[in-house]
Amino acid sequence: MHANWLSHQITRPVEIGGIGVHSGEHCVVTVKPGIPGGGCWMERAGERWPVTIDSVVDVERCTVLGNARQRVATVEHLLAALASFNLYDCEIEVQGGEIPILDGSALPFVEALRPNLVAGGPVCPYVLEQPVWVGNESSQVLALPSDTSRLHYSLYYPHPQLGYQEVTFAPQQQSFADELAPARTFALEQEVEWLRAKGLARGGSLDNALVVRSEGFSSPLRLPMEPVRHKCLDLLGDLYLLGRPLQAQVLAVKAGHRWHTDLVRKMQQEVVGHVG
Ligand SMILES: [Zn+2]
Repeated sequence: MHANWLSHQITRPVEIGGIGVHSGEHCVVTVKPGIPGGGCWMERAGERWPVTIDSVVDVERCTVLGNARQRVATVEHLLAALASFNLYDCEIEVQGGEIPILDGSALPFVEALRPNLVAGGPVCPYVLEQPVWVGNESSQVLALPSDTSRLHYSLYYPHPQLGYQEVTFAPQQQSFADELAPARTFALEQEVEWLRAKGLARGGSLDNALVVRSEGFSSPLRLPMEPVRHKCLDLLGDLYLLGRPLQAQVLAVKAGHRWHTDLVRKMQQEVVGHVG
Protein backbone atom coordinates (compact mmCIF):
# COMPACT_ATOMS: atom_id res chain seq x y z
CA MET A 1 0.00 0.00 0.00
CA HIS A 2 1.37 3.39 -0.95
CA ALA A 3 0.03 6.23 1.14
CA ASN A 4 1.16 8.78 -1.44
CA TRP A 5 -1.32 7.49 -4.02
CA LEU A 6 -4.35 9.07 -2.40
CA SER A 7 -7.62 8.48 -4.12
CA HIS A 8 -10.49 10.93 -4.50
CA GLN A 9 -14.18 10.33 -4.64
CA ILE A 10 -16.73 12.46 -6.41
CA THR A 11 -19.56 13.65 -4.18
CA ARG A 12 -22.22 14.63 -6.73
CA PRO A 13 -22.76 14.41 -10.52
CA VAL A 14 -20.70 16.89 -12.56
CA GLU A 15 -22.03 17.72 -16.02
CA ILE A 16 -19.84 19.15 -18.76
CA GLY A 17 -21.15 19.97 -22.24
CA GLY A 18 -19.52 21.09 -25.48
CA ILE A 19 -18.64 20.31 -29.07
CA GLY A 20 -17.09 16.98 -30.08
CA VAL A 21 -13.96 17.68 -32.11
CA HIS A 22 -14.45 14.81 -34.56
CA SER A 23 -18.22 14.96 -35.11
CA GLY A 24 -18.81 18.68 -34.54
CA GLU A 25 -21.90 17.71 -32.55
CA HIS A 26 -22.87 18.94 -29.10
CA CYS A 27 -22.07 16.30 -26.48
CA VAL A 28 -22.63 16.14 -22.74
CA VAL A 29 -20.64 14.10 -20.24
CA THR A 30 -21.72 13.57 -16.64
CA VAL A 31 -19.27 12.13 -14.13
CA LYS A 32 -21.13 10.53 -11.22
CA PRO A 33 -20.16 8.79 -8.00
CA GLY A 34 -19.40 5.10 -8.49
CA ILE A 35 -19.41 2.10 -6.22
CA PRO A 36 -16.31 2.05 -3.99
CA GLY A 37 -14.00 -0.59 -5.46
CA GLY A 38 -16.29 -0.99 -8.47
CA GLY A 39 -14.03 0.76 -10.96
CA CYS A 40 -14.89 3.27 -13.65
CA TRP A 41 -17.73 2.62 -16.11
CA MET A 42 -18.99 4.46 -19.17
CA GLU A 43 -22.57 4.56 -20.34
CA ARG A 44 -24.16 5.74 -23.56
CA ALA A 45 -27.68 5.17 -24.85
CA GLY A 46 -28.45 2.22 -22.60
CA GLU A 47 -25.09 0.50 -23.21
CA ARG A 48 -22.45 0.29 -20.50
CA TRP A 49 -18.82 -0.86 -20.50
CA PRO A 50 -15.87 -0.77 -18.11
CA VAL A 51 -13.32 1.97 -18.70
CA THR A 52 -10.48 -0.50 -19.21
CA ILE A 53 -8.13 -1.56 -21.98
CA ASP A 54 -10.62 -4.26 -23.06
CA SER A 55 -13.11 -1.56 -24.07
CA VAL A 56 -10.76 0.19 -26.53
CA VAL A 57 -12.36 -0.02 -29.99
CA ASP A 58 -10.29 2.53 -31.94
CA VAL A 59 -7.07 4.52 -31.49
CA GLU A 60 -6.68 6.19 -34.89
CA ARG A 61 -7.01 9.88 -34.03
CA CYS A 62 -8.13 9.62 -30.42
CA THR A 63 -8.91 6.88 -27.92
CA VAL A 64 -12.39 5.43 -28.49
CA LEU A 65 -14.12 3.17 -25.95
CA GLY A 66 -17.25 1.13 -26.43
CA ASN A 67 -18.80 -2.22 -27.13
CA ALA A 68 -20.34 -3.81 -30.23
CA ARG A 69 -23.28 -1.36 -30.26
CA GLN A 70 -22.12 2.00 -28.89
CA ARG A 71 -18.90 3.95 -28.67
CA VAL A 72 -17.54 7.19 -27.24
CA ALA A 73 -14.55 8.98 -28.79
CA THR A 74 -11.93 11.37 -27.40
CA VAL A 75 -11.95 10.02 -23.86
CA GLU A 76 -8.27 10.72 -23.12
CA HIS A 77 -8.37 14.26 -21.71
CA LEU A 78 -11.16 13.45 -19.25
CA LEU A 79 -9.37 10.24 -18.25
CA ALA A 80 -6.14 12.19 -17.67
CA ALA A 81 -8.02 14.49 -15.27
CA LEU A 82 -9.49 11.46 -13.46
CA ALA A 83 -6.02 9.86 -13.29
CA SER A 84 -4.58 13.04 -11.77
CA PHE A 85 -7.07 12.75 -8.90
CA ASN A 86 -6.68 8.95 -8.59
CA LEU A 87 -10.42 8.83 -9.12
CA TYR A 88 -10.91 5.24 -10.23
CA ASP A 89 -14.46 4.57 -9.00
CA CYS A 90 -17.02 6.56 -11.00
CA GLU A 91 -19.71 6.40 -13.65
CA ILE A 92 -19.28 8.40 -16.86
CA GLU A 93 -22.55 8.98 -18.70
CA VAL A 94 -22.28 10.37 -22.21
CA GLN A 95 -24.86 11.94 -24.50
CA GLY A 96 -23.46 12.08 -28.04
CA GLY A 97 -20.59 10.16 -29.52
CA GLU A 98 -17.72 11.99 -27.89
CA ILE A 99 -16.36 13.58 -24.77
CA PRO A 100 -16.49 17.37 -25.41
CA ILE A 101 -13.18 18.82 -26.61
CA LEU A 102 -13.72 22.11 -24.66
CA ASP A 103 -10.49 24.12 -25.06
CA GLY A 104 -8.48 21.09 -26.25
CA SER A 105 -6.83 20.59 -22.86
CA ALA A 106 -7.70 18.79 -19.62
CA LEU A 107 -7.93 21.95 -17.54
CA PRO A 108 -11.73 22.45 -17.83
CA PHE A 109 -12.24 18.86 -16.57
CA VAL A 110 -9.87 19.44 -13.65
CA GLU A 111 -11.65 22.68 -12.73
CA ALA A 112 -15.13 21.20 -13.01
CA LEU A 113 -14.29 18.10 -10.99
CA ARG A 114 -12.05 19.57 -8.27
CA PRO A 115 -14.72 21.39 -6.19
CA ASN A 116 -16.79 18.19 -6.08
CA LEU A 117 -14.14 15.80 -4.80
CA VAL A 118 -13.29 14.52 -1.34
CA ALA A 119 -10.12 12.69 -0.41
CA GLY A 120 -10.52 8.92 -0.16
CA GLY A 121 -8.15 6.23 1.02
CA PRO A 122 -4.87 5.17 -0.53
CA VAL A 123 -5.08 3.41 -3.87
CA CYS A 124 -2.81 0.47 -4.74
CA PRO A 125 -0.68 1.13 -7.82
CA TYR A 126 0.20 -1.38 -10.50
CA VAL A 127 3.88 -2.07 -9.78
CA LEU A 128 5.81 -3.00 -12.91
CA GLU A 129 8.31 -5.80 -12.36
CA GLN A 130 9.86 -6.28 -15.80
CA PRO A 131 10.63 -3.89 -18.67
CA VAL A 132 7.95 -3.65 -21.34
CA TRP A 133 8.51 -2.15 -24.76
CA VAL A 134 6.20 -1.34 -27.66
CA GLY A 135 6.88 0.59 -30.83
CA ASN A 136 8.43 0.65 -34.28
CA GLU A 137 11.37 2.48 -35.88
CA SER A 138 9.95 5.97 -35.31
CA SER A 139 7.76 5.68 -32.17
CA GLN A 140 8.45 3.85 -28.95
CA VAL A 141 7.23 3.49 -25.40
CA LEU A 142 9.43 1.78 -22.83
CA ALA A 143 8.25 1.12 -19.29
CA LEU A 144 10.83 0.22 -16.66
CA PRO A 145 10.44 -0.93 -13.06
CA SER A 146 10.95 1.92 -10.59
CA ASP A 147 10.33 2.89 -6.96
CA THR A 148 8.25 5.85 -8.08
CA SER A 149 6.16 6.92 -11.05
CA ARG A 150 7.73 9.06 -13.72
CA LEU A 151 6.60 9.81 -17.28
CA HIS A 152 9.10 11.16 -19.77
CA TYR A 153 7.91 12.20 -23.22
CA SER A 154 9.95 13.40 -26.14
CA LEU A 155 9.16 14.21 -29.73
CA TYR A 156 10.98 15.51 -32.73
CA TYR A 157 9.42 17.19 -35.73
CA PRO A 158 11.63 18.76 -38.39
CA HIS A 159 9.53 21.94 -38.11
CA PRO A 160 10.78 25.46 -37.23
CA GLN A 161 8.29 25.81 -34.33
CA LEU A 162 8.69 22.32 -32.88
CA GLY A 163 12.05 20.58 -33.30
CA TYR A 164 12.99 18.53 -30.23
CA GLN A 165 10.74 18.80 -27.18
CA GLU A 166 10.70 16.84 -23.95
CA VAL A 167 8.92 16.86 -20.62
CA THR A 168 9.12 14.80 -17.44
CA PHE A 169 6.14 14.47 -15.14
CA ALA A 170 6.15 12.73 -11.78
CA PRO A 171 2.48 12.30 -10.80
CA GLN A 172 3.18 11.97 -7.07
CA GLN A 173 5.41 15.02 -6.89
CA GLN A 174 4.22 17.50 -9.50
CA SER A 175 0.93 19.28 -10.06
CA PHE A 176 -0.99 17.97 -13.07
CA ALA A 177 -3.12 21.14 -13.04
CA ASP A 178 0.00 23.30 -13.42
CA GLU A 179 2.33 21.18 -15.54
CA LEU A 180 0.20 19.25 -18.03
CA ALA A 181 -3.54 19.97 -17.81
CA PRO A 182 -3.43 23.37 -19.59
CA ALA A 183 -1.57 21.96 -22.62
CA ARG A 184 -3.85 21.94 -25.67
CA THR A 185 -4.25 19.50 -28.53
CA PHE A 186 -1.99 20.57 -31.36
CA ALA A 187 -2.07 20.02 -35.08
CA LEU A 188 0.29 20.97 -37.88
CA GLU A 189 -1.25 23.37 -40.40
CA GLN A 190 -0.89 20.85 -43.27
CA GLU A 191 -2.60 18.22 -41.12
CA VAL A 192 -5.54 20.55 -40.49
CA GLU A 193 -6.01 21.08 -44.24
CA TRP A 194 -5.90 17.31 -44.84
CA LEU A 195 -8.45 16.67 -42.05
CA ARG A 196 -10.80 19.34 -43.44
CA ALA A 197 -10.55 17.88 -46.94
CA LYS A 198 -11.45 14.45 -45.55
CA GLY A 199 -14.43 15.84 -43.60
CA LEU A 200 -12.73 14.96 -40.30
CA ALA A 201 -12.26 17.11 -37.18
CA ARG A 202 -15.55 18.88 -37.92
CA GLY A 203 -15.59 20.45 -34.48
CA GLY A 204 -11.95 21.51 -34.69
CA SER A 205 -11.26 25.23 -34.39
CA LEU A 206 -8.71 27.68 -33.08
CA ASP A 207 -10.67 27.65 -29.80
CA ASN A 208 -9.86 23.99 -29.14
CA ALA A 209 -6.50 23.37 -30.78
CA LEU A 210 -3.10 24.90 -31.12
CA VAL A 211 -2.32 25.05 -34.82
CA VAL A 212 1.39 24.93 -35.65
CA ARG A 213 2.26 27.10 -38.65
CA SER A 214 5.75 27.55 -40.04
CA GLU A 215 5.73 31.21 -38.96
CA GLY A 216 4.35 30.56 -35.47
CA PHE A 217 1.54 29.19 -33.34
CA SER A 218 -2.14 30.11 -33.81
CA SER A 219 -2.24 31.55 -30.27
CA PRO A 220 0.28 32.27 -27.50
CA LEU A 221 1.60 29.17 -25.76
CA ARG A 222 0.20 28.51 -22.28
CA LEU A 223 3.35 26.67 -21.18
CA PRO A 224 6.82 26.18 -22.68
CA MET A 225 6.91 23.14 -24.99
CA GLU A 226 3.12 22.93 -24.83
CA PRO A 227 2.86 20.29 -27.61
CA VAL A 228 4.96 17.65 -25.82
CA ARG A 229 3.17 18.41 -22.55
CA HIS A 230 -0.09 17.61 -24.33
CA LYS A 231 1.34 14.28 -25.51
CA CYS A 232 2.27 13.46 -21.91
CA LEU A 233 -1.30 14.39 -20.85
CA ASP A 234 -2.64 11.97 -23.48
CA LEU A 235 -0.30 9.25 -22.13
CA LEU A 236 -1.55 9.75 -18.58
CA GLY A 237 -5.14 9.53 -19.87
CA ASP A 238 -4.45 6.28 -21.74
CA LEU A 239 -2.64 4.80 -18.71
CA TYR A 240 -5.89 5.31 -16.76
CA LEU A 241 -7.11 2.22 -18.65
CA LEU A 242 -4.99 0.13 -16.27
CA GLY A 243 -7.65 0.92 -13.64
CA ARG A 244 -5.07 2.10 -11.11
CA PRO A 245 -1.93 4.28 -11.04
CA LEU A 246 1.21 2.86 -12.65
CA GLN A 247 4.38 2.64 -10.59
CA ALA A 248 7.05 2.61 -13.30
CA GLN A 249 9.29 4.85 -15.30
CA VAL A 250 7.76 5.38 -18.73
CA LEU A 251 9.81 6.72 -21.63
CA ALA A 252 7.69 7.65 -24.64
CA VAL A 253 9.20 8.82 -27.92
CA LYS A 254 6.86 10.40 -30.50
CA ALA A 255 4.21 7.86 -29.60
CA GLY A 256 0.42 8.18 -29.66
CA HIS A 257 -2.75 6.46 -28.57
CA ARG A 258 -1.93 3.24 -30.45
CA TRP A 259 1.36 2.74 -28.62
CA HIS A 260 0.06 4.02 -25.28
CA THR A 261 -2.78 1.51 -25.33
CA ASP A 262 -0.55 -1.29 -26.67
CA LEU A 263 1.70 -0.72 -23.66
CA VAL A 264 -1.23 -1.05 -21.26
CA ARG A 265 -2.43 -4.21 -23.03
CA LYS A 266 1.02 -5.78 -22.98
CA MET A 267 1.51 -5.01 -19.30
CA GLN A 268 -1.79 -6.67 -18.48
CA GLN A 269 -1.49 -9.63 -20.84
CA GLU A 270 2.04 -10.53 -19.83
CA VAL A 271 1.33 -9.90 -16.14
CA VAL A 272 4.67 -8.20 -15.61
CA GLY A 273 3.60 -6.44 -12.47
CA HIS A 274 1.60 -6.86 -9.32
CA VAL A 275 -0.88 -4.73 -7.44
CA GLY A 276 1.16 -2.90 -4.78
ZN1 LIG B 1 -5.00 14.84 -26.66
